[in-house]
Amino acid sequence: MNNIEIYNTLTQRKDLIKPIKGKKLNFFICGPTVYDYSHLGHARTYVIFDSFVKYLKFSGYDVFYLQNITDIDDKIIARAREKKVPVKDLAIAFEKEYLNRMKALKVNSVNKYARATNYIKEIISQVKRLMDKGYAYKIEGDGIYYNISKFKDYGKLSGRTALQAEDAISRIDYSKDKKNRGDFCLWKFKQESEEPSWPSPFGEGRPGWHIEDTAITEKFFGAQYDIHGAARDLIFPHHEAEVSQMEAISGKVPMVKYWMHGGFLTVNGQKMSKSLGNFILIDDFLRRYPYQYLRFLIVKNLWSSPMDYSESAMIEVKATIEKIEDFLRKVKSAKGKNSTKDKKAEIKKLIENAKTNFYKELNDDFNTPKAFAVIFEFVKEANKLLEEEAVSGKEAGLINKFFEEINNIFEIIDFKNIKKAIPSSIKKLVKQREDCRKNQDWQKSDEIRAEIERQGYRIEDTKDGTLIKPITNL
Ligand SMILES: [Zn+2]
Repeated sequence: MNNIEIYNTLTQRKDLIKPIKGKKLNFFICGPTVYDYSHLGHARTYVIFDSFVKYLKFSGYDVFYLQNITDIDDKIIARAREKKVPVKDLAIAFEKEYLNRMKALKVNSVNKYARATNYIKEIISQVKRLMDKGYAYKIEGDGIYYNISKFKDYGKLSGRTALQAEDAISRIDYSKDKKNRGDFCLWKFKQESEEPSWPSPFGEGRPGWHIEDTAITEKFFGAQYDIHGAARDLIFPHHEAEVSQMEAISGKVPMVKYWMHGGFLTVNGQKMSKSLGNFILIDDFLRRYPYQYLRFLIVKNLWSSPMDYSESAMIEVKATIEKIEDFLRKVKSAKGKNSTKDKKAEIKKLIENAKTNFYKELNDDFNTPKAFAVIFEFVKEANKLLEEEAVSGKEAGLINKFFEEINNIFEIIDFKNIKKAIPSSIKKLVKQREDCRKNQDWQKSDEIRAEIERQGYRIEDTKDGTLIKPITNL
């Protein structure tokens, strides 16, 4: 197992990941509230944690990756009312949409998606235990609330005190009869007839947002587990509430050893919002670019840092991926005409060093930008050896294997694109064009180039001859 350090919000420093039990890592991430289409903000969070989980698995950990789906919530109820459809139908439709988008982005490391409404029994059990222990109280006709002044560690994750907790109020958490302004709702009694509700010992109602996560994690992992991930904006009040609930119920501290909070996403330097008109859905993105481009843009940034999406960033991403794919194409056709014993040793050393340094950077707080800088440097050096025709089939195989290994974690290269054989009809056209160019028949040469492009290939004239590549959907 690799020794991996990550920045932990709870301790405010880099911590070495040591599983609670053996090689097992129980990993939970807050899933989406399913009331709208999935956007680039979702993509950022779920792609980076998908890559991280894949890296943990690659490093020898036995990861169970759990994600909840919030399918009961004020926003869902409001949207269903607006659209005049049943709450359940709306939630299921957007859950399906979300799962399809994740599939399209190759986010496939999640072991279990847990829909909140499938765990009502577990939620009720947690609320009941909080009441029995004196951490929760009832407001007649309203709901059951968590009393934050009873939990002495309130604020230890976010650094906020109970007095600063007023931000915790969202619609469901509002009540003029609360004991503290930051008290949050655990169970809301049924207010309106079209609201979904479940029977409970306290009264017919529905769960608050924070309690669903701890009910789900307790069910799968018990009172304590290894890693909790999410975007940064959920630290407060959501994660603070989770800690308050679970630690109050179990008395076991800490609920989670490592808290990983991902950075925000901006579009052209601004917060993505519908009112600014810069809201980008994953679906819109994928109509323009292959999924690999988004995954690469995401891993070019450190997971916990802010990241910006812009057209110029995408141009850079495209150029970089094409450079890597061109490199791998050259690797694939390397014959090693000038390969010598010394050159073989040189290229082997180059690969070994790149591997060592690449994984060293990933082990240090999953620093993907630094890790990929190692790869670009490697490509530059190996390209020189390819140009000398010093790379034989055997070393080419090692390079290819290394890049496949990288791709299994990050999914940024389209190997099918590289492997795709160029049809002989295209090769024939390229040959014809070369003849035209030799005869300085530029017009005919341009016509043939256009024909080649119509057939889905583009050509580039280099000093070593003409390169042929399939056109990606850009
Ligand atoms: Zn959550």
